[in-house]
Formats: sequence, C-alpha cells, structure tokens
Amino acid sequence: MPLVTLKEILSEAVAKKYAVGAFDAAEHGFVEAIIKAAEEKEVPVILMLTEGFLGLVDLDNFMPYVLDRIRRSPVPVALHLDHGTSFEVCVKAIHYGFSSVMIDGSTLPYAENVALVKKVVEVAHLCGVSVEAELGHVGGGEGDLRTGSVVDKSSFTRPEEAVRFVQETNVDALAVAIGTVHGVYQGAPELDFELLKELRSALDLPLVLHGGTGLTEQDYRKVVAHGINKINYFTGMSLAAVAAVKQAIEDREGYLHYHDLVIAGLAKAKELVKKQIEVFGTQPLG
Ligand SMILES: [Zn+2]
Repeated sequence: MPLVTLKEILSEAVAKKYAVGAFDAAEHGFVEAIIKAAEEKEVPVILMLTEGFLGLVDLDNFMPYVLDRIRRSPVPVALHLDHGTSFEVCVKAIHYGFSSVMIDGSTLPYAENVALVKKVVEVAHLCGVSVEAELGHVGGGEGDLRTGSVVDKSSFTRPEEAVRFVQETNVDALAVAIGTVHGVYQGAPELDFELLKELRSALDLPLVLHGGTGLTEQDYRKVVAHGINKINYFTGMSLAAVAAVKQAIEDREGYLHYHDLVIAGLAKAKELVKKQIEVFGTQPLG
C-alpha cells in the first residue's frame, strides 16, 4: 500500500471517534515491530522518527528501506517527523520522503509559533505533506527517565487561542496540552478532561496527545472518547523492550547470542504496540 499522509490516515478519526497510534522508531527493529503490529491488527499506523533520532542512522541508507517497507505493507502507514524544531529539519524530512511533519514551536511566543508553522505549512502543502503543530506546551523529556517530569498547568492549551491558531496556520492536526508529559511522570498524571471537551467542540481538526506513556487503559479510552485522534507512544514500549532484554539475559544466565536479545526486545515492543492499537480503538480506513 502506498504511503499515506497524516491528513488521510486521520480523515475518519474525528467523525468516528477513534485514535490512530503513532509510535517512534530509532532503528530498523522498531520499524518492523511497529508495522508488523499494525499488519497483524489490520489497521493503519503512524510511524514516527523524532528529530532527535535522525542522527542515529545513516538517512541516505535508512530512509529508502523505511519507504520500501511501507510500500510493501498491506496497511496504510503515514511516515511522520516527530518534534521537528526548525523549518530546515522539516524540509529535510520532506526531502527524505516523509508524508507528514510536526513543527514544534510550542516553547515560542504565540506569534513566533504561528509564523514558523505557517512557513512550514506553505512548503509542506505544496509537496502534499501534512503538518502537525503544538499549542500550549507538553513538558518533560524522553531522556529524563530516572526522575520523571511534573505537569505545568500554566502551559495548557487555551481553546480560543487554539481556534485562532488553526485559522492562522492552516495546520492539519494539533497537539494539545491537557496534562500529559513526555517520558515518565512524577506521581500520577491528572488529565483535564473538561478542557479536552472544550477543545474538541471548538475545533474540527484531528487532535493529538503527546506523552502517552504512563496513562492507564481507562485514561486512554477516555481521552479517545473525548476527542483525541492521534496518540504518540514511545517510552512505554522502549522501556518494556529493555526489560525483556534484561529478562532474557537473566533467564539464560548471560549465555545467549545478540540476536536472541533483539528478538526478545522486539517481540515485547510489538506486543505493546498491538495492545495500544486495541485500546486506542483504531479502525481500518473505509
Ligand atoms: Zn511529543
């Protein structure tokens, strides 16, 4: 199946009230685990590479493999740049064949965020590529695994501002801040469902939830029921894969091959992606 854009893959998600899972890969193994999980569940999936991971691979060799893998898949796959921080990196991603980019200007003042997103949207739309932006700011970081992060309520998305932002930028999907953080949480997450309801009724484009790891299954079902259409998920599957590798080493008392570790880690990652897809209620495109 050909590569699809974020706009296409989320085209029915708002009306039918489901979310499509968006999973980050940093190397070949996770690409396979994510796409295979979607194939086994027979649903669309969003494969993401975050800007921070682009330096881990040789893009000239890696990207043709990713694009070919997507074309060979029977399920629709969108290839999305996660957390692009500059116009330049978004253009680079478009050049490498991504069908969707996120331009994250969420730490900038409102007017600067709008100007940056508009500039990316103009170029991306000319190339048939979708754009996701973020308004309000989802804090934390995938790197902060030991201490975790706390939620800053002052950076939550404001509905009136979000309406203006979408009109001004013509963006295809909007990441909102309603109480999640990236990476792991200090304490339990407290989501503002009232705010999410307001955002959903004020906006008709797909809404995105970042910082999916650490929410309960009930939380996920509730955010989807309240109008989230794309859920970014990475830390949970990454940590679970590491735990599976550790377990494999312990079980065999260190007497095993490298590929045994890779197989154990990726099997766990695939299992988790399948589980999340189920919880997100992802449906095949009609
Ligand atoms: Zn994020």
